[in-house]
This record gives sequence, C-alpha cells and structure tokens, in this order.
Amino acid sequence: MREHVISGHGDDQSATRAGSGPERLIAGRYLLHDVLGRGGMGTVWRAHDRLLDRPVAAKELHILTHGDEEHRIRMRRAVREARAVARVPHPHVVGVHDLVESEDRLWIVMELVEGPSLADQVARHGPLTPQRAAVLGLQLLDALEAVHAVGTLHRDVKPANVLLRRDGNAVLTDFGIAALDDGEFLTSTGQLVGSLEFMAPERVTGSQTGPPSDLWSLGATLATVCGGESPFRRPGGPATLHAVAYDEPALSERLGALLPVVEALLRKSPHERPSAAGARAALRRVAAGEADAGPLPSATARVPRPSSASADADTVTGGHGLLVPAGDAVPPAPHTTSLGTPPARSSGSAGRKRLWWALAGTAVLVTGVGGGLFLAGVLPLKKGPRTTTVSQVVQSGGGGGGGGGGGGGG
Ligand code: ATP
Ligand code: MG
Repeated sequence: MREHVISGHGDDQSATRAGSGPERLIAGRYLLHDVLGRGGMGTVWRAHDRLLDRPVAAKELHILTHGDEEHRIRMRRAVREARAVARVPHPHVVGVHDLVESEDRLWIVMELVEGPSLADQVARHGPLTPQRAAVLGLQLLDALEAVHAVGTLHRDVKPANVLLRRDGNAVLTDFGIAALDDGEFLTSTGQLVGSLEFMAPERVTGSQTGPPSDLWSLGATLATVCGGESPFRRPGGPATLHAVAYDEPALSERLGALLPVVEALLRKSPHERPSAAGARAALRRVAAGEADAGPLPSATARVPRPSSASADADTVTGGHGLLVPAGDAVPPAPHTTSLGTPPARSSGSAGRKRLWWALAGTAVLVTGVGGGLFLAGVLPLKKGPRTTTVSQVVQSGGGGGGGGGGGGGG
C-alpha cells in the first residue's frame, strides 16, 4: 500500500500569528479565539473556520509532528482510523472536520460542542441519577457500536471525553487512542498512556482487546458519573492499575437500578461481559425508570433468540460483545458483521511491559492523554510547507480508510 502526503490548502499560508494580538491563524483558515480547555496532550481552542464561516473547535496537540519511522507508521495508522471515525455520521460521535499540521504541531479541527464535558458537569453539579446516567449510557453505547462497526475502537472512553450538548445529549470525542495499536501504549519515553482507571483489565495486562474493552470503559464511566467517584482510582498509577486488573469494584449504592448493568460491564473477563444488545436492553429499562435492569447474560452465553427481530438481533460478532443468536456458540475468531468489526488484538509483550512499567512506578501518565494520543507520535509529513492538510495523508492506494482496525502497521 502506498501512502503519501497530499498537500492541501494552506501550503503557502503557513500558520501565521494574526498580527501581534493573541489570535492566531492556523492553516490559513482557522482563526483561534479563546482556550476551551487543556488535557494531558493538547489544548482545545474555540476557533472560527474562515472558509466555511462557522465556529469550530481546534485541538492543538503538544507532541511535535516529526519523528522517526516508527512515529510515522503510527501516524499513518492514526490517520487511517481518524478517517474511519470521521466517516461515521452519528449524533453521538463528534464531527471531525480536518487534520492540519501547523507550527510543527498537529491540530484536529472538529465540531464545536457548546457544553461541558461529563467530567466537568459532575464536578460542578454532583453525580447523575441512575436514570440520567442510563440515558447517556445508551447514547454512548450507540456511538461505540457505530465506531466498532467501521473497524476501530475508541480505547479512551472516560467522562472527560464525553461532551454534553446544550440539549443535554452526549457526544463522544477523542478517538485518539483508537489510532494506536495495543502494543503502542508505551511511548518512546516509556510512559503509559491512557486514563488508567478507565482502561479495561485486558488492556492493562496486555491481553486481547476488542469492543468489550470499550464496553468496560463505558461501565467505569457510568460507575463514576453516577457513583460520584471512580471505583478503581487509587493513590498512584501502579495501585490504580493493579485495582483495574485484580480488584472487584466497590460500587456505590447511588447506582441503584444501574448497578447490575455496571457490574456486568465491569466483569474482568471480556467474554463474561454482556453483549452491547444486552447492555442496551438493561440501560433502556433503567432509563425508563424501571427498578429492575433485567437479565444480563454474558455475551458468550447461550441466549435465546429474541422473539422480535431487531437490528441488534441480526448483529453477530463472536467474542466481541454483540448478540449471539439462539443456541450458537460464539465463534472463536473475530467474526464480521456486514460492516466489519475490529479484530481483537493482543498487545502481548507490550502489555506485559506496560504493567511492568506501571507497577514499577515508572513514568505513569495517568489521565488526559487520550485525545492527544491520537497522534502520539507521528506525522508522515514531508518537511517543507509548514502547514499541510493531513486529512489526506493516507492516500488510499491500499484501502486503508475504512478498515483502520485491521490496518496493521501501515
Ligand atoms: P485528554 O483528552 O488529553 O485525555 P481531556 O479529555 O481532559 O484530556 P481535552 O480532550 O484536551 O482534555 O479537552 C480539554 C477541554 O476542551 C475539555 O474540557 C473539553 O470540554 C473541551 N473540548 C474538547 N473538545 C471540544 C469540542 N469539540 N468542543 C468544545 N469543547 C471541547
Ligand atoms: Mg479529551
């Protein structure tokens, strides 16, 4: 597969400081206004797209865009998956408009969501009711399924990566970590990347990851925003990782009717977690105010075929958390839906290294890296123009676009 950079707009319009004032023009097009917030890896700006005359959010990643070959390979994979996500038109998936390099940084230009993150919301106003958490959980589950269906994982589902629109609906953002293979959590500096208390046990221990890993993170997110505190956070990264891998969560009574579904999503073994369809059914009950979330069999259990066919009921993904039809054993290998789902991956020795690093207390990067990781390393850009549109970095000569999850190393 051949991949190369196509320079887009802005080649001759290097990122310029707009006069001596605080405003900066990026890619000759995006005028930066104020800072909306800062995370572990980047700064998010409110900006204006002068070409399309609309407000946008621009996330400036702090990592430099140039790097070695390994960096470039990961970048290509990142961009492939970004493109896959950008093609998911979904009300609960943030719209990604553009990727540009400017001032040796990478910028993600995306839909501006005029609302706080779920983490901010809970910090300001306290935990959510089980019913409200279930409503948001349903939206996030839909978003995850849409992303899984195009062959990619989110890998960093956490309250800080859920934005709330003014109407109260949730938008999942920062598909950054999805850009990296499971073996790439250790950055070149040996840092463990991700938000530890929201990382599924199999990710922490370097076992196979897949859609159920995102479902685990959704469970941890719901437990946190409804329970008021993360069930796995401990003083220090190593202790947190150990808790994720080995401790049963002590879940708050606040979870009420949400408790069974959260408990099921947080099962240590991905195979014991409920399918997305099972989780959806339970969340629907809680969202409707029912006291009982209903049965939550593991995705790999033999479950009766639902009497009325639904879209969910037609979805079969062995071992990945989707519905298993009546009496069928789950196929051992990844099974594709019509759209394809991301294969489970093992991070193997990298995962063990990850745990080792963490348990050794070495350079653990606890939170805030998610979105940034998107580009943790990486830009296969030629030197030359200081501003280049990278939304076409991966020129599809080998069909890299939609199948990011199986894309391998570019
Ligand atoms: P990280 O993603 O690095 O792990 P984080 O999620 O806490 O950490 P950022 O993703 O950098 O931080 O986001 C920083 C702030 O910018 C957040 O408070 C978030 O509310 C805001 N923000 C992010 N994306 C958008 C967007 N598309 N529209 C509006 N605000 C946004
Ligand atoms: Mg974020």
